[in-house]
Amino acid sequence: RDAKALLEVRDELKLSLAAVTVLRERYLLTDARGRPVESTGELLDRSATFVAQAEEDYRAGSSQRWASRFSALLRGLEFLPNSPTLMNAGTPIGLLSGCVVLPVEDSLRSIFSSLGHSALIHQAGGGTGYAFSHLRPRGDRIVSTGGTASGPLSFLRLYDHASEVIQQGGRRRGAGMAVLDVSHPDIREFLAAKANAPGELSHFNLSVGVSDAFLRAAESGGTQWLVNPRSGRKVARVPAAELLDAMCEAAHRSGDPGLLFLDTINRANPLPRLGRIEATNPCGEVPLLPYESCNLGSLNLARFATGGRVDWDRLGEAAELSVRFLDDVIDVSRYPFPELEQATKAGRKIGLGFMGLAELLASLGIPYDSDDAVRLAGRVASHVRRHAHAASERLARERGPYPAFERGARPRETARRHAQVTSVAPTGTISLIAGTTSGIEPMFAIAYVRTVLGRQLLETNPHFERLARDRGFYTDELAANIARTGGVRDNPNVPADVRAAYPTALEIAPYWHLRMQAAVQRHVDAAVSKTINLPAGATVGDVRSTFLAAWRAKVKGITVYRYGSKEDQVLTLAEPA
Ligand code: ADP
Repeated sequence: RDAKALLEVRDELKLSLAAVTVLRERYLLTDARGRPVESTGELLDRSATFVAQAEEDYRAGSSQRWASRFSALLRGLEFLPNSPTLMNAGTPIGLLSGCVVLPVEDSLRSIFSSLGHSALIHQAGGGTGYAFSHLRPRGDRIVSTGGTASGPLSFLRLYDHASEVIQQGGRRRGAGMAVLDVSHPDIREFLAAKANAPGELSHFNLSVGVSDAFLRAAESGGTQWLVNPRSGRKVARVPAAELLDAMCEAAHRSGDPGLLFLDTINRANPLPRLGRIEATNPCGEVPLLPYESCNLGSLNLARFATGGRVDWDRLGEAAELSVRFLDDVIDVSRYPFPELEQATKAGRKIGLGFMGLAELLASLGIPYDSDDAVRLAGRVASHVRRHAHAASERLARERGPYPAFERGARPRETARRHAQVTSVAPTGTISLIAGTTSGIEPMFAIAYVRTVLGRQLLETNPHFERLARDRGFYTDELAANIARTGGVRDNPNVPADVRAAYPTALEIAPYWHLRMQAAVQRHVDAAVSKTINLPAGATVGDVRSTFLAAWRAKVKGITVYRYGSKEDQVLTLAEPA
């Protein structure tokens, strides 16, 4: 019966088996016995109809027309909103935002209040980010009790444990981002937290908030003061290069921490008069002020290539419609506590981005690691942003600019409906549903073995398979062969132009990963989620040069991942590069 139900869901939109499995397990509404009561198409209609209800407030009687336009956009898999919008629209859990940043001030009241708030956000499938930088260091004085403070790490472990507990009743693994400023006295403990204890803090990504001054000091033999955030007193002076090395060693060992370039982020802060940004959402693509949330959505670039060319007009139109969709999401979303609603509606930040870049490039025969690819990606980001901004400006004329515009934005800023319009998310699940490559990441493998419902399935990239069959070089033996290493770059049984156009993440040099991130970041309002893949044999020095190159390239954050450095790596290859 299960298999039959899977097939029915699958037929309607011609989704992959992996997509259908995820939808059935976590997204489709079910009856009391856990059986789905809607198809995938109906799930998309449910989101579209629910979101379009916002239109009634602006023009009575118009929501049906918008609902059908939104439905067509979603059913065409041209655009998908972030997971919570798909899961929660029209259900008792009404939060539709993908991500939130919460404050953690140096008081038990603030620490436990945000812990409670984060539980409600995780329950809805959203992710949370926090700066722990304001907490007094371990061993510091507590005046009211005469005791000593347990420090940011102790509270971070508490938050992590809470995520673990809530996950058991929720729809997905909770995810959080913990940021600690490089000047915090407990910074070394923070760096060691995951690197020296595999399995610890598994619900958190860690990032160090670094300043330009710190990085300049690290390059020139300067020092960094460690400062107690409670008293403002300087407690130690350390060689900046030594601190940077400790970050690189930890990242080399475990992938954590990443760096957040806080000065770069704040130079682009759209609401500087409301505060300085200190944290991002879990995957780094949205820097936010405390209590702000962001609704993400992504265009599926693979759907905008026709006849070997990008259909720019259609992409622009879809970007504009998607901005309207995301604007409506802010209105119909239900916020579990008032601070969240108030801050979110003040700036009305949205994050329109895209997925399927690697598939688009491959389908056009352009190698990901080439100047042409970097140029095209930049052009896509700039085109999407131009249309997204135009739509946001039009909505501002119709519905008014975001409420914090006058008091929060920089003088002479253009009046938009949203303080921030574009962002590139990882699209981990929605790209799986749409059947394309995630965000701006390259393909992980051309063929690989995936375990679905306990069975091992050999999956070949559908685009590659079609091409291989059309050109007559496809054999089952070839697919099985590719699955062993993942890639085709060195495979003599694949024609040279195809080998060039289908690189995998590990075959692409770190230099190109970073160039791609930087090229896209140049045309994105918020930030870009991207992992710089390093081969298993990369050194700590390689991590260091990647970190410094990323800072110079003016990206907002950087994450490296050295192959094999995490125990629970999601996809693996039999014979890694
Ligand atoms: P999706 O494809 O499911 O919409 P993404 O992979 O694009 O999600 O991630 C976008 C953002 O959604 C992340 O930066 C994070 O804020 C949030 N998010 C993703 N996965 C989770 C998770 N398992 N738990 C909580 N939040 C998540």
